[in-house]
Amino acid sequence: MKEFDYIIIGGGCAGLSLAYELDIHNKLENKTLAIIEPRKNYERDKTWSFWKIIDHNFVDCVIKSWKDFSINLPKKTKYIKCDHTPYQTIDSGLFYKKIINKLRQNKNIHFFKSINEINMESGYIFNSVPTANYSKNLLWQHFMGLEIETYKDFFDEEIFNLMDFNCEQKDAVHFFYTLPFSKTKALVETTWLSKLNNDDLLNYEDQLKNYINNNLNIKKYKISYSEKGAIPLFQQKNIKRVNEMYIGSAGGMTRLSTGYTFLNIQEQSKHIRENIENIENTKIFKINKKYNFLDNVFLNVLSNHPDKMPNIFFKLFEAQPKTVINFLSNKSSFVEDLSIIFKMPKIVFLKNLLR
Ligand SMILES: Cc1cc2nc3c(=O)[nH]c(=O)nc-3n(C[C@H](O)[C@H](O)[C@H](O)COP(=O)(O)OP(=O)(O)OC[C@H]3O[C@@H](n4cnc5c(N)ncnc54)[C@H](O)[C@@H]3O)c2cc1C
Repeated sequence: MKEFDYIIIGGGCAGLSLAYELDIHNKLENKTLAIIEPRKNYERDKTWSFWKIIDHNFVDCVIKSWKDFSINLPKKTKYIKCDHTPYQTIDSGLFYKKIINKLRQNKNIHFFKSINEINMESGYIFNSVPTANYSKNLLWQHFMGLEIETYKDFFDEEIFNLMDFNCEQKDAVHFFYTLPFSKTKALVETTWLSKLNNDDLLNYEDQLKNYINNNLNIKKYKISYSEKGAIPLFQQKNIKRVNEMYIGSAGGMTRLSTGYTFLNIQEQSKHIRENIENIENTKIFKINKKYNFLDNVFLNVLSNHPDKMPNIFFKLFEAQPKTVINFLSNKSSFVEDLSIIFKMPKIVFLKNLLR
């Protein structure tokens, strides 16, 4: 059985980000790496977006970035600037291609389909296989997106829509999210924050069709791509054993209140690369505990008062844009945290803090 110094289980976003980070920093010149990934081929399957609050290795995979965005409640729209930290979108197809092409040039990196093909007893393991308890009774961010192409100029490509609450809520939290890549092309997503036990919420295609026809008023379009997903909004195990650590979503890199994960994965990869020579004794990289605490209170409010959430999200963005973006990207100072907390309805949050 073949032996390796490092083994990455799961060649998705976290596994490949880590392998790339190790490779470009020459950490695999004298070490061997096995990447275990069952998928047959790599194609675009996700569209990763985030406010660019830190530098990352994938600027050349960014298909669009925006300096302005909006949020809608029925009859109210807020316009927000993010010129200091533009919102970027990465095409996962370009990301996979760039990384695989680079890794294939390193003779110390080998790809396998199953852990049964190598010796798992030796070597250090970075595991990104989801460990989530897939209970339908926990909170999830679940969604479907359609990339549509219109036959005439339709979208304002300079501004994206983060949340449009002009839609049925059905005792959950529901919004649409639109990323206009050009005047004729956009990704439109229906997003729910809810448990997964209500089949009534899962007819995503009908919701999208209705929104595109009636809210966006687009009658003729073609679909060029679609994606679907469910991101757990509850704590992952984030296990560390003597010879194994969890990475990516499985390693707790998802921000619970928002589902944002991509940049946290990049920071985790950098942390591992900086400590790779002494990885057995290195502490795991974690999202600051204060966010887990605040997000749990936020999610309690969300579970108990879904009807209040559109207004709460709208109010959140009454704080300075930089403050909200720092907060949502885990980079806020204590003063910024306070200014976010003061925007929240005090009594509801206090009651849910005590639960
Ligand atoms: C559709 C979608 C859109 C998203 N959009 C955003 C976004 O806009 N911004 C953001 O910050 N986050 C987003 N996320 C959340 C997060 O960034 C992604 O889920 C990201 O892919 C997580 O990376 P990961 O490596 O942990 O998991 P994955 O990328 O899912 O990688 C896990 C890998 O493990 C492999 N695998 C599974 N089982 C096994 C096994 N038994 N053995 C070996 N390998 C196995 C899988 O094939 C997969 O390649 C999105 C998630 C989804 C699903």
